[in-house]
Amino acid sequence: VSSHQPINCIEKACMLRPLEAPFRYLFGPGPSNVPPRVLAAGGRPIIGHMHSEMFGIMNDIKKGIQYAFQTSNNMTLAMSGSGHTAMECALFNIVEPGESVLVAINGIWGERVAEISERMGAKVHTLVKTPGGHFTNAEIEQALAKHKPVLFFLTHGESSAGLVHPVDGVGDICHKYNCLLLVDSVASLGAAPLLMDQQNIDILYTGSQKALNAPPGTAPISFSERACHKMFNRKAKPVSYLLDMTHLSNYWGNDGKPERTYHHTGPVSGFFALRESLAILAETGLENSWKHHTEVAEYFWKGLEDLGLKLFIKDKDLRLPSVTTIAIPEGYNWKELLAYIMKHHRIEFTGGLGPSVGMLLRIGLMGYNCNKANAAMALAALEDALKQCRMSKA
Ligand code: PMP
Repeated sequence: VSSHQPINCIEKACMLRPLEAPFRYLFGPGPSNVPPRVLAAGGRPIIGHMHSEMFGIMNDIKKGIQYAFQTSNNMTLAMSGSGHTAMECALFNIVEPGESVLVAINGIWGERVAEISERMGAKVHTLVKTPGGHFTNAEIEQALAKHKPVLFFLTHGESSAGLVHPVDGVGDICHKYNCLLLVDSVASLGAAPLLMDQQNIDILYTGSQKALNAPPGTAPISFSERACHKMFNRKAKPVSYLLDMTHLSNYWGNDGKPERTYHHTGPVSGFFALRESLAILAETGLENSWKHHTEVAEYFWKGLEDLGLKLFIKDKDLRLPSVTTIAIPEGYNWKELLAYIMKHHRIEFTGGLGPSVGMLLRIGLMGYNCNKANAAMALAALEDALKQCRMSKA
């Protein structure tokens, strides 16, 4: 008999209760609800992460990402991790300590990229606007000429402000100054037009849990030839072993070597689900998906204005179709509004994030959740909350 006995005072009672994961309408900025077809794909029996069938699935995922990103880049893959993993992968592999980066900050995502860049020892220069602001190509060019960075970061769908940033021409300006363009499309992919190759984007990443409607935990990313040239000709290895593209490109069969060798165990179920969500996007067609998000968003925006609410982004063309932002209506406590809607309607909306906290409410209708019935449900919940939650003047 072993003398090793479990310590009885370590609490385990909660583990003897069944898992509780209630149904909620996830109409915040993500994760969004996952369609049964994608859930079912994620629930398939596990196969080995190095089995030939798994490599086939990863090859399909690569094609699905190439379609979704509109790129023919060979160096296309999915990260084992959330959107932040892709963000760190891009920065850790492209930038060497001491090199300059230029970061456009008009919400939380630029702030995050600036912080990650600083932590890894880059010289960080910023272009800053208040949440919801955007940068002209002339402003970007001026900053590139001044700071001569190796990388410029821009958020396409600024989910903390509800802004879709123009990208046309930015890649060309970056290349004129020998700088690579890194774009975050976590909140916009599939909802707003973005064409990696045509818009000369060097590194593009997204997340699985927004308009793609897969569970959180995987993140597509792609690198142009230019980006590959920079990251595979570094002086020193990147600080992260897990995110080192030399290894990841082999794991994804992108490095031309005959053998794929073990690097880490990829999230097998997450890749099954991601493959299915990319398949749905391919079946729907990108143009249809963009058009559908715009139509539903316009219906929703009109309904919000009819309720007397003010949209945070005034210019319609700069509004992110997947995540709508509303100025907090006067006479209301935003936390009370959100709590009321969650309690009485089982709907998640959220407040601001980072610099936009206390400025706005965020409502996401993405992919599977993006339809007029859901928009009408969201409007009815808001109308009810506006009736019930007005603060007394006393
Ligand atoms: N970028 C944007 C634009 C986002 O909306 C998010 C997620 N809210 C992220 C990056 C980070 O993604 P994740 O939470 O999956 O790490």
